[in-house]
Amino acid sequence: MTVQAHSTMTDAEAAGRGRATAQPFAQVWTGGSEFELRTFDRPQLAPGESLIRLTAATVCGSDRHTVSGRRPGACPSVLGHEGVGIVEETRGDVPVGTRVVFSVTSVCGECRNCRRGLSAKCTSVRKVGHESAESEWALSGTYATHIHLPAGVAVVPVPDSLPDGVAATAGCAVATVMAMCEAAGDLQGHRVFVNGIGMLGLIAVGAALARGAAEVIAADPHADRRDLADRAGATETIEPGTELSDIDVALELSGAEAGVRSCIGSLGIGGTAVLAGSVTPGPTVSIDPEQMVRGWRTITGVHNFEPHHLAEAVEFLAADGAALPWEDILGGPIPLTDLTQEFAHPTRGLRTIVTP
Ligand SMILES: [Zn+2]
Ligand SMILES: [Zn+2]
Repeated sequence: MTVQAHSTMTDAEAAGRGRATAQPFAQVWTGGSEFELRTFDRPQLAPGESLIRLTAATVCGSDRHTVSGRRPGACPSVLGHEGVGIVEETRGDVPVGTRVVFSVTSVCGECRNCRRGLSAKCTSVRKVGHESAESEWALSGTYATHIHLPAGVAVVPVPDSLPDGVAATAGCAVATVMAMCEAAGDLQGHRVFVNGIGMLGLIAVGAALARGAAEVIAADPHADRRDLADRAGATETIEPGTELSDIDVALELSGAEAGVRSCIGSLGIGGTAVLAGSVTPGPTVSIDPEQMVRGWRTITGVHNFEPHHLAEAVEFLAADGAALPWEDILGGPIPLTDLTQEFAHPTRGLRTIVTP
């Protein structure tokens, strides 16, 4: 930062400068369901890096899995990978003062996977909200006043029209759904099946409609989730296990063996099943290869996303995505200091907003 003589600063500038030198603090996950509020030194930014002053985070279900012990994670660490904030300091391309969201992956841009457009699978990938609080990337998560973004994290500006809570969901849930839609191909006029109505499933219903799907059938065991899908515009909502056929695109988000089987089994001629829910080891699912061959059917998988999917997520949220039932999707806001309580007793809704 350039040093200015105090006499040249107005009061407002001085106040702004005061904020820009504030010491970051974060909720550090220390194992089990324990969090501890700790302060951190402001990071020295390397070329391409930036420091974002967070205005909100949203709690992704995978953090709940980490805290409940169902997903391994670096510990101690600052969790949280959905967030929105203002660029406070930067040695990158996005100017100070810009309101932004950011990708969940930090990638090298040079390995074979990065070069062929699969940067989500970068061979040296590091992830937002997944790094040790004792590593050189201590401020990696969004349950904090600030997040430190390495050069390999995609940063996308956010229009003023998007509320913080809505914008924050772009960085994991919405961008992943954009990647699924791309893997599914053209949805125009198609019959789409969405299995599993959590945050991603609900976004998938809205995204399929926005891309011109003729029908969107949504399945979930919970009546309140089916109700949300209805309000997001689903043509029909069903209980899992309901027999379906002639589906052009099936989007699987439950991760359940039965859900995977029903997505694959529902496909019509030329149909594609995109699996994204199966992120923990589970039972294998058998397929009938003749059904794949004679029916020109496709099964594919998606995990995380590419930078252009994050940009598409912001565009979707600012356009058709605005019509989703956000008042029921979002819970909170809760203060950062209440995070332990939030993980013990989740707020109602699919995503809880956390504000520093
Ligand atoms: Zn997530
Ligand atoms: Zn790479």
